[in-house]
Amino acid sequence: MAIAVALVGIGQIARDQHVPAIAASGAFELAATASRNAGVDGVARFADLAALLDRRPDIPCISLCTPPQVRHADACRALDAGRHLMLEKPPGATLGEVHDLVARADARGVTLFATWHSRHATAVPAAREWLACRRVRRIEIDWKEDVRRWHPGQEWLWDPGGLGVFDPGVNAISLLDAIHPRALRLTRAELAFPANRDTPIAASLELADADGTGIVAEIDWRRQGPQTWDIRVFTDAGDALLADGGARLVIDGSEIVAGPAPGGTTLDHEYASLYARFAELVATGASEVHLTPLRLVADAFLIGRRVTVEPFEW
Ligand code: NAP
Repeated sequence: MAIAVALVGIGQIARDQHVPAIAASGAFELAATASRNAGVDGVARFADLAALLDRRPDIPCISLCTPPQVRHADACRALDAGRHLMLEKPPGATLGEVHDLVARADARGVTLFATWHSRHATAVPAAREWLACRRVRRIEIDWKEDVRRWHPGQEWLWDPGGLGVFDPGVNAISLLDAIHPRALRLTRAELAFPANRDTPIAASLELADADGTGIVAEIDWRRQGPQTWDIRVFTDAGDALLADGGARLVIDGSEIVAGPAPGGTTLDHEYASLYARFAELVATGASEVHLTPLRLVADAFLIGRRVTVEPFEW
């Protein structure tokens, strides 16, 4: 029997991915929503999570699709009410918030699933397997997109805690973390802040692993024209390109995993996989929280050199 799940924060990703992924999932059914200004046709609607939790004790699972700045308060409400919880990425605005949620989930004996959708991209298993038995020499991340095209009007991205360009950039880092067999640490960062904004519009990063592998990342929201979400890996036994946000894998010029069919998106596969994983975690009473992507972004804010660039307007 399908498990009842409620969605919180009916915005772009809830509408584009969560609602269809739940509908297609045999494991879950969408039983209610909590959102101030939106709902889903035919589904019970509440203005906030507190009201939903109070009125619907029959819903065991909650999935949060709100911006990171308001994630912790709702996450505490859900966990303290004994519900299993799935979080959009990033799992919190700070690492401390996420540690607190892990402790609450443990204390309540419920599942906490901090999702990183890019970890579920189609080509990740093949890329991880290929890399596992190679000596990596260098990794180059090129993550460049047009913020006006992908995030129109989302002011919260520019507010403190909204991560700015790290909102997509953390996907690149979560992908790197999913395929790279060694622990990662940040060694240098330069962050470009628009003069009128509180979060960066671009970032240049350098990372290393225990073997001293050079890893560089260029993350930029000012790209017009072709959009790029690529990771290039150079090893002692061939080179790989993980392209299109992890949807496509090319090794030494041969396409090993093709990208989505025209009109399709890698996100469809990723969100189907996320809800399948959530069902598995709930069934086994386990939690899954990977902190590395958020830690590396936090480290970029800690050691990053700040440069001021021209003001950003929509
Ligand atoms: P969005 O379109 O702005 O939707 C978020 C919704 O949350 C809003 O529509 C709003 O609905 C609700 N909300 C509650 N408190 C809010 C507040 N203080 N400020 C703004 N909205 C608030 O954002 P989104 O693109 O869906 O992103 C939501 C989360 O999913 C983010 O963490 C993002 O990183 C992640 N994500 C997004 C994408 C994507 O492609 N868009 C992909 C993967 C992951 P009400 O006004 O009805 O309350």
